[in-house]
Amino acid sequence: PRPVLEVADLHVTFKTEAGLVPAASGIDFSVAPGRTFAIVGESGSGKSVSSAAVMGLLPPNADVRSEVLLDGRELIGLSSEELRRIRGNDIVLVFQDALSALNPYYSVGWQVAEAYRLHHDVSKKEALKRAVRMLDLVGIPSAEQRAKAYPHEFSGGMRQRVVIAMALVNDPKVLIADEPTTALDVTVQAQIMRLLEDVQAEFGTALVLISHDLGVVAEVADDVLVMYAGRAAERGSVKDLFHRAAHPYSLGLLGAMPRVDVPPRPRLATIPGSPPSPGSITTGCPFQPRCAYAHLVGERCITERPELTPRPGEGYHEAACHLGRRPEVML
Ligand code: SF4
Ligand code: MG
Repeated sequence: PRPVLEVADLHVTFKTEAGLVPAASGIDFSVAPGRTFAIVGESGSGKSVSSAAVMGLLPPNADVRSEVLLDGRELIGLSSEELRRIRGNDIVLVFQDALSALNPYYSVGWQVAEAYRLHHDVSKKEALKRAVRMLDLVGIPSAEQRAKAYPHEFSGGMRQRVVIAMALVNDPKVLIADEPTTALDVTVQAQIMRLLEDVQAEFGTALVLISHDLGVVAEVADDVLVMYAGRAAERGSVKDLFHRAAHPYSLGLLGAMPRVDVPPRPRLATIPGSPPSPGSITTGCPFQPRCAYAHLVGERCITERPELTPRPGEGYHEAACHLGRRPEVML
């Protein structure tokens, strides 16, 4: 299917007192209806900034350059009025923190109904009916009664369901979920991810999942972009990423992925050092200071920035690394 969201050559730079600070450079991704595209990286990798940029939600000191097509329509440069009509309607963003997305002083039913009324000319009664239907759909038991309850009367997991109901009430084409389950315990996380998958199957929503959790990504994503220091490190199908990871950073992340069959290893044992701020990298590979393979390449890792390049014979699978072959796995 044709992508419903296409982001091409996204650059985000923050103007600060200390100067220009790049947060994302040259990011491309697209997602088709009913598909899930995951953006993976550590905090500070630029994954959240990228999604906020797509939504037009960055502060005024952020300079965003990109082509963002939603259903073929360019989003960057739209007036704030036009953006308001699209945001929450055609494209929605769900954060990890359900509490901050909800107003403590209004019942959840009222809030979901208002989200609907913002984009539909319907009576309050009709909107509330729709809200109750959505709350029921996302698995709130006795939705008609619970619609009258306030956010603090729900558990964290149920609250996240309410937020998802609110996100879906206008039947968006694209749902961007930024660490939607991070604040929840493991069992509830799995339930919420299953809910997102069910919803996606039912409505054909395109899902952009921002996550640092490779376990979640492996389960639900179709395609994956791994970001490091504001840049693309690797991109491909979930299969490519998990079975044929080509970038040393991705391999490190995979080594850091908790598995049920082996005791957890501290991440620093796998990837020594910490990510640089995107602005501090001027030449060469941003991963070079932490890369266990750089010595195999030599000078080039320091002097020349690697760009995403297709893996030979693998079609869509691309990695930004000068090491021409898949590194020997030394996890
Ligand atoms: Fe490591 Fe060099 Fe590849 Fe960067 S380009 S990931 S430093 S081998
Ligand atoms: Mg899916």
